[in-house]
Amino acid sequence: MKIIMLGAPGAGKGTQAKKIAEKYQIPHISTGDIFRANIKNGTELGKKAKTYMDQGLLVPDELVCDLVVDRVQQEDCRNGYILDGFPRTIPQAESLDRALAALGESVDYAVNVEVPDENIVNRMGGRRACVGCGATYHLVYAPTKKEGICDTCGAELILRDDDRPETVQKRLGVYHEQTQPLIDYYSKKGILKDVDGTMDMGAVFQAITEILGA
Ligand code: ADP
Ligand code: AMP
Repeated sequence: MKIIMLGAPGAGKGTQAKKIAEKYQIPHISTGDIFRANIKNGTELGKKAKTYMDQGLLVPDELVCDLVVDRVQQEDCRNGYILDGFPRTIPQAESLDRALAALGESVDYAVNVEVPDENIVNRMGGRRACVGCGATYHLVYAPTKKEGICDTCGAELILRDDDRPETVQKRLGVYHEQTQPLIDYYSKKGILKDVDGTMDMGAVFQAITEILGA
């Protein structure tokens, strides 16, 4: 099963993608996580990506597309995968479609997690990320057992630089301009599935699993 998660930054794509990946035993591929790992490791890709990410801008398509096209052809993706944060532009979607078509494959579902902008600001302001393993929490909606400490690996939690209020506004603008057109793109292909992302995490997960089937 090949799944794409669509939705504004902070809509809950990562939260749901992680659970779906566990349930269906498929890899969770987050381009944001890939860039953050590259930044942490000081790679050339990480250095390039950081300049865009810190400003709330998208990393250029040419730095993203090949990376994802290579990743989805790896052995662990043979039974499918869930893409979180990719595609984010029409050229990225076209590039993925071309690569899959060459393999005789296509995306099965584009799950669109719908959350209004007002809720997004609250979601991202309260999001906390682990500096060690990258796990994501929320101060109110998904708190850790011990404040400021990751439940999984015990490392410190931080507010991501790009989750600061001024950058969140910028990212929302970029989302509406460059990523939202993908809703129409996948709707025309007949694989778009809308989900109300304002429900609690468990209810959103249930709605998605009903779409994907048991
Ligand atoms: P995205 O991957 O779309 O950027 P995340 O999955 O990181 O979004 O979620 C953004 C923040 O909102 C996180 O702090 C997460 O814990 C929280 N969150 C995710 N889903 C919900 C939900 N259904 N209700 C409340 N908070 C949520
Ligand atoms: P995310 O973790 O998905 O919120 O992504 C964090 C940041 O990484 C984004 O704001 C972009 O700067 C960058 N990024 C992640 N995925 C992509 C993508 N598919 N295309 C362009 N930039 C991306």
